Amino acid sequence: MSNVTVCARFRPRSSKEMRDPSRDGVCARPIDAESFVFQDDKEDEFTFSLDRVFYEDSTQAALYEFLALPIMRDAVNGINGTIITYGQTGAGKTYSMEGPGIHDCDDHNKGLLPRVVHGMFQQISSSNDFARYTVKLSMVEIYMEKVRDLLDLSKANIQIKENKTQGILLSGVTEASFIVPVSDSAEALQHLCTGLANRAVGETQMNMSSSRSHCAYLFTIQQDSVKDKRVKTGKLILVDLAGSEKADKTGAEGRVLEEAKTINKSLSALGNVINALTSGSSSKANHIPYRDSKLTRILQDALGGNSRMALLCCCSPSTLNASETLSTLRFGMRAKHI
Ligand code: ADP
Ligand code: MG
Repeated sequence: MSNVTVCARFRPRSSKEMRDPSRDGVCARPIDAESFVFQDDKEDEFTFSLDRVFYEDSTQAALYEFLALPIMRDAVNGINGTIITYGQTGAGKTYSMEGPGIHDCDDHNKGLLPRVVHGMFQQISSSNDFARYTVKLSMVEIYMEKVRDLLDLSKANIQIKENKTQGILLSGVTEASFIVPVSDSAEALQHLCTGLANRAVGETQMNMSSSRSHCAYLFTIQQDSVKDKRVKTGKLILVDLAGSEKADKTGAEGRVLEEAKTINKSLSALGNVINALTSGSSSKANHIPYRDSKLTRILQDALGGNSRMALLCCCSPSTLNASETLSTLRFGMRAKHI
């Protein structure tokens, strides 16, 4: 990985958190745009420095411009990229990724995903580089180490394969294909809406919560040059991760405990992969443990090689969540460490 951006975002306090300001202070004190002092529930202080910190008054547009736009642009030009939201359940991952709803919400609150789709189609349409562009879109959910096709729920166990020319492949996954500018971003967003509706159906059918699964939006942008017949391909994957919170040590049993263990395992695998990639010793052919989880395997070529990654650490502003927030921020710091 050649380029990593790690940001934190503190969501606004919920009405419940507002109601009891005496017990529930705000846990981050800004120093500058990149650094802040974090105070935990024991009033211990920790200073964190990331690439940018977004506070409760931050806009979705500002987040997009800093975190996602540069990676989207590069993906259109053939450089692979990944954009990940990480954090405990309720910290703002889905809000940042999708917004209050990806289709029928006003422009202002739209999340990263609809902005990336819109920006991608716009950039392609306005390019005048004698190339024909095709955007392919898939959407999968990873639950208990099974990959499910969200554009076709009958494909509940997608296998991950690797091939020399195309890299990592999801065998048989549904790919919606768009020739730009013949198709527009609204068409692509329509497919994403279908995928999200399917996700909700699956959630009810399997009696599970979407916060316990990872959701990945996969884009392949293929550029066929008209002049010299060259083909350039960029992969861009957006991931809304399962909640990173530790299982309640006393209450968890049965499936809940299995879920927690599986999530924990895949999130540590992600941390280990990012760490191996950013530790600077990758030239010595050090082992990158992509195969330790379905998540890291799917992300393999969007993370490795000449690629870019942005990690958004989503945080609750409430001191009641301080220990989870601290572990989220530490995950982010570890990813940044070169
Ligand atoms: P997660 O996906 O991490 O479980 P959500 O994105 O669902 O968390 O956010 C939890 C709640 O907080 C939702 O009601 C969401 O609308 C709200 N929320 C999160 N981030 C923001 C934000 N930046 N601005 C306004 N509301 C937010
Ligand atoms: Mg969510």
